[in-house]
Amino acid sequence: MPMLNNLSFVQIQSEFISTLKGSCKEDPSFSQAWKAVEQAKQNEASTSERKFKHYSLQDEYLLYKGKVCVPSIMDIRNQVLFECHDAPSAGHHGINRTYELVKRHFLWPSLHRDVQNYVSKCHKCQVNKFERLKVGGLLHPLEIPKGKWESISMDFISGLPRTQKGFDLVWVVVDRLTKLAQFIPVKTTYKTPELAKIFVNQLYRLYGLPVDIVSDRDARFTSHFWRAVFSRLETKLSLSRAEHPRTDGQSEKVNQILEDILRAYVTSKQTDWEDYLPLAEFAYNSAKNSSTEFSSFMLMYGFQLRSPYAVGLQIERVQAAQEFLQDMNFKLKLAKENLKKAQDRAKAYADPKRRDVTFQAGDQVYIRIPERSEKFKTGQCAMLSPRYCGPFPITKKVGLRAYELQLPYESWIHPVFHVSRLRKSLTDLDNLVGQQVIPPIPVNETVPHEPERTLRTRDKRKRSHLYEECLVKWKDGTEENSTWEKVSTIQRLFPALKF
Ligand SMILES: [Zn+2]
Repeated sequence: MPMLNNLSFVQIQSEFISTLKGSCKEDPSFSQAWKAVEQAKQNEASTSERKFKHYSLQDEYLLYKGKVCVPSIMDIRNQVLFECHDAPSAGHHGINRTYELVKRHFLWPSLHRDVQNYVSKCHKCQVNKFERLKVGGLLHPLEIPKGKWESISMDFISGLPRTQKGFDLVWVVVDRLTKLAQFIPVKTTYKTPELAKIFVNQLYRLYGLPVDIVSDRDARFTSHFWRAVFSRLETKLSLSRAEHPRTDGQSEKVNQILEDILRAYVTSKQTDWEDYLPLAEFAYNSAKNSSTEFSSFMLMYGFQLRSPYAVGLQIERVQAAQEFLQDMNFKLKLAKENLKKAQDRAKAYADPKRRDVTFQAGDQVYIRIPERSEKFKTGQCAMLSPRYCGPFPITKKVGLRAYELQLPYESWIHPVFHVSRLRKSLTDLDNLVGQQVIPPIPVNETVPHEPERTLRTRDKRKRSHLYEECLVKWKDGTEENSTWEKVSTIQRLFPALKF
């Protein structure tokens, strides 16, 4: 006999969601709507006032077009923002993506401004993300795939520290239509048969075979890979291959976003990136994609996958199957149009003009750490180390494009930086308590202290590039310690120096 009485039924609901219950009743922005809806409910009629017609009450939650209204209590709004931005399944995305995530379930009058404020002041975002560089035009954009999982791109992110389980690569597989990405930890030592096995176990199992694979590796890799997959599937069918060398630029973008997400979460040990990989994948796929204008989950499955903050929100509408399919096809059609537009935009990109940035004394700025810098890295892997350190205050302007900063006492770095290495800090210093302000570690910078005079100049050639160098005598050094420096660098850093 089956034991039917031992079933346990646990329904979960986050506590924070229940704090929203009844919270709009007394709120200045929502109390009127609340009253109108409540009154209508008692009279068993719909609201007579037109401006409240999209409001409804459900289980003590005030909803506007199905979204939960959040009262103007800073703590509650900040908690919503934290869950939709800082939590690992949210992924520290930028303003637009975060706004889109919040707006899926929640609503309040100044929402967009609040998201803008919150994200631009986020310390982790400022320290970990490079300002996106615009990519050059795509020379041969790939054709937009006709169906889901018809064409996928494959790429590897290397340069990561080895995890406890020995993984040191991320295999990035992206469906080119829905942009659904899979991040799979692998090892550099894996050969194609091992990759084929993982492909069948993790991807073929869910999506079947794609028609083509785009990879930035050489064509031999792809054809070996196909063969290995076919042999793993034990099919007797043989395959012929056609090569279409094209550029895509998609995987590069995915890699950059994944690196940004990981950097925001890994600890200083940095070998725990593998633990965050599934969460980063979720964060990537549930955020709106800038080329398709939809989230990858929405395009692949037709609905948003539930994040922790959405548990217990009983507002999801069940759509009839027919409506669901129609909606899905419509969304895919729109996504294709948006992809085409994104490709055209990328093609039309001209080189961006250099931004002219100026700072004032007292401004708090972050210092950009040179990419892959060995000297500045805070963990064992430069790639996962923060991109910026600081914030530090500016003491004065030095020359035309350089600034002197007030660095921590322990810092050995020369405190003058070119403007291109500085980024204004938007973080409230009061909010930095408990956050990590990373001081530069003591290093000997290549540009030592102040120059006293230049001794002589010479011409130098590096490949086809000709430039002038000068022998600089430094104020705190002897003549023997003089060093050859690029004239342009010295002029930029110390414009007052005579030659
Ligand atoms: Zn952030």
